[in-house]
Amino acid sequence: MSSYSETELQLVREALEQQRQVLTEHIRAGLSESEQNQFAAILGRSAGDSSDEALASSLADLSAARLNLEVRQWRELDAAAGRMASPGFGVCQDCDAAIPLARMVANPAAVRCIACQEAHEKTHASQPHGSL
Ligand SMILES: [Zn+2]
Repeated sequence: MSSYSETELQLVREALEQQRQVLTEHIRAGLSESEQNQFAAILGRSAGDSSDEALASSLADLSAARLNLEVRQWRELDAAAGRMASPGFGVCQDCDAAIPLARMVANPAAVRCIACQEAHEKTHASQPHGSL
């Protein structure tokens, strides 16, 4: 269950909203006018009332490669906002340890503690990734 007090949750919530706002501005700045209207329509839906799949396919339509990362981060923050009310928020999904508050403020979309996140990234580091 969540290890955070209401005050602590509020800190995470504020950090999340701030990061989402920054991403929203970045994404909007990278979109054409018609794309902006489409994205604004997506943002206008209240979180949780659109299925993840519907959101994913709408965003896939935008398809601009340069925006993929920011859109993905935005979706992760949006999902985190939805999870915030659930008892498992702030609990590592791999080891069930409480994720430190400072980590959640720095990265409200975090779903793992630092140790598990590092292990997870190592496991996935072998995926081909550009020319590096
Ligand atoms: Zn963990």
